[in-house]
Amino acid sequence: MIYFDYNATAPVMRQAREAWLEATERIHGNPSSPHAFGVAAHRAMTEAREKLAHFLGCHPLDLIWTSGATEANNLLLHHFAQTLDAKSEVWISAIEHPSVHDAAKHYFDQRAKLIPVTYAGVVDVEWLTAELADTRPGLVAVMAANNETGVIQPWREILAICQAYEVPFFSDAVQWIGKLPAKGLGDCDYLTGAAHKFGGPRGVGFLKVPHQSRVQSLLWGGKQERGQRAGTENIPIIVALLAALEAREKQLAEGHHQTRAEWKEKFEKLLLRQVPDSTVVGTGTPRLWNTVSALMPAGGQQRWVTRLDKAGFAVSTGSACTTGKEEPSHVLSAMGYKAGQVTQVLRFSSGWETTAADWEALEKGLVKVYAEVHHGK
Ligand code: PLP
Repeated sequence: MIYFDYNATAPVMRQAREAWLEATERIHGNPSSPHAFGVAAHRAMTEAREKLAHFLGCHPLDLIWTSGATEANNLLLHHFAQTLDAKSEVWISAIEHPSVHDAAKHYFDQRAKLIPVTYAGVVDVEWLTAELADTRPGLVAVMAANNETGVIQPWREILAICQAYEVPFFSDAVQWIGKLPAKGLGDCDYLTGAAHKFGGPRGVGFLKVPHQSRVQSLLWGGKQERGQRAGTENIPIIVALLAALEAREKQLAEGHHQTRAEWKEKFEKLLLRQVPDSTVVGTGTPRLWNTVSALMPAGGQQRWVTRLDKAGFAVSTGSACTTGKEEPSHVLSAMGYKAGQVTQVLRFSSGWETTAADWEALEKGLVKVYAEVHHGK
């Protein structure tokens, strides 16, 4: 079975597993305890915070550990709901992950406004610039790279525009971190990430906020994370997050992702040639080296996913599909794809462990499944 669903979650890498085991065996204390065990736990957590701050380029106290990005995104929008005045709007891109979109709608309802994207899946910077000249929202949120299409967003440019208008800028960098260098992301006022997308354990992530401004905890009953996130921190998974990130940053510095981008590009060319009427979403625009979002002809998403599963490939539909029903992708809808097309999308997302041979096998698998679904077998 070959795994092509890394954007959903990635296998825990050896370095992270070893770091987790080592920390589990060595560190027994609660980081809030005053005795030597607590001090040792606190030290390990502080070291991890400093290392993450170094990779992102921010102050260590800007970082709050969370259970993942869903919590981090909710914590941030909850914070803005508590602190903005009753008239302020938040502007989020139309392609945000549901943990940003739904939290924004929950807290701000009609005051959560969607920033449109182009047909290529990139946030419409011209629209944003023109709107900002007129109105100042309380927050602008644009993810760093999209989880469905892999399309890279111009977050640096948008950050600069927001700075010029003195509007706080937030980026959900979940799909960027570990796939592209983290350097510079810490310049964003607010940032979120999750370990399990780049080879760390599930259940740990972070929120970056300027340490001068305090976030109100979503939970009650503890003063952890300087009163911003109640609950005992899980030191082994925090340490493992860092072990994974260090390993990924090293691979990135050595340029290993460039070869992987070539494998993916070769796959896309073959797919378009071998599977008639297939379309690759977001071509011609910078995308993550690991993600291919494709509209597949004939058969329907679930049929493709099931057939590919039987043929030995784990792939996903573009959008979260928890019910097993075909769900239209809100990302493709926002990009202007038609109703009939948005339920045709499949996502192939590779990881650092994926080989050139895996991509070749997937291409052959798709040709085989196409022949089956095309002939109604
Ligand atoms: N943001 C993006 C862009 C994602 O892709 C995901 C996960 O799919 C999340 C947030 C949620 O992350 P977590 O699984 O850590 O809650």
